[in-house]
Amino acid sequence: MNHVYFGIDIGGTKTEVSLISIEHPLGHLDSGSASFHAHKVLVRRRIPTERNHGHRGFLSNLKSLIQASLTEVGIPLSSIRGMGVGIPGSVHPELQQMVQGSIPFFKDLDLRAEFGSALGFSGTMVFENDANCFALAESRFGAGADWARSHHVSESGLCLLGITLGTGVGGGIIMNGELIRGRRGGTGEIGHISLKAADRSCYCGKSGCAEQFLSGPGLEHAYSLRARPGQRVSGKQIFELARSGDPFAVSTTESYRDDLLQFLSNLANLLDPHVIVLGGGISLEDQIYQGLENRLSESCFLTSDPPSVLKNSLGDAAGALGAAYLAFSENQGEKAPS
Ligand SMILES: [Zn+2]
Repeated sequence: MNHVYFGIDIGGTKTEVSLISIEHPLGHLDSGSASFHAHKVLVRRRIPTERNHGHRGFLSNLKSLIQASLTEVGIPLSSIRGMGVGIPGSVHPELQQMVQGSIPFFKDLDLRAEFGSALGFSGTMVFENDANCFALAESRFGAGADWARSHHVSESGLCLLGITLGTGVGGGIIMNGELIRGRRGGTGEIGHISLKAADRSCYCGKSGCAEQFLSGPGLEHAYSLRARPGQRVSGKQIFELARSGDPFAVSTTESYRDDLLQFLSNLANLLDPHVIVLGGGISLEDQIYQGLENRLSESCFLTSDPPSVLKNSLGDAAGALGAAYLAFSENQGEKAPS
């Protein structure tokens, strides 16, 4: 149990705790292909995110979940090497404070101090934006790692853009194996890149944000405007309706694919990644990938060899795994990903 870490993924509605053992890579970084890490999830538990009693109420629930996870495996908290925590917001890399995000009671808290004292944990603690955790996990263990292995690209050479298309739209950028955070942890807040000028207001105070078109609620809104004002039809149902020929659903999903193409080509022109890995509920719909790479080739500045657009392979386990990996990296004193 030398390398067991907690990965915690805090979402707006649910919080997941995983106990994960992480192993060193079997090969060498310079070997070109065998530099990726192995992992094993020992326990995975989830609860609704407690939002009604401030951060203390949340942490009290989290403590119970952590204790239940340790009991299940039969190991004490003192044997855990580190804890990584993904949160839905921008996390300042040095201060380890949430600068802005969707759970207001975390804002400007000293996260290490508050979590450490509430959970009784004094080991390594790392806090990071949840989409960054997703991108990191897919690059080290998931679809990005698989792609790199089969294309003889090393872990330290991989350029990957992770995009979550769920309740919101988030992004994480890995360039040459390193997570890019920016000045205050605000790198990759791509959901609020303006996709269409002066259209659809966003909760962030601006309008035309990509999230308003490419998130699950954005897709549902687009369909209800066309077909059933006031009636909620889920994103999954809209894709099913499109497959069965419902004309409103067909035009909604076609327009979604056009918006996604524009979004991805803008990002590919900015970042020139090897791969773009999609996560979140909408990433499960095969229709969004059909013909996408060919269309990307036509719409990017570099017209040959466009980035591969891949469905994630870790599912909703990626956030906790990426967070645990960050704590592992900090303990190893690895240069990447910080
Ligand atoms: Zn916005």
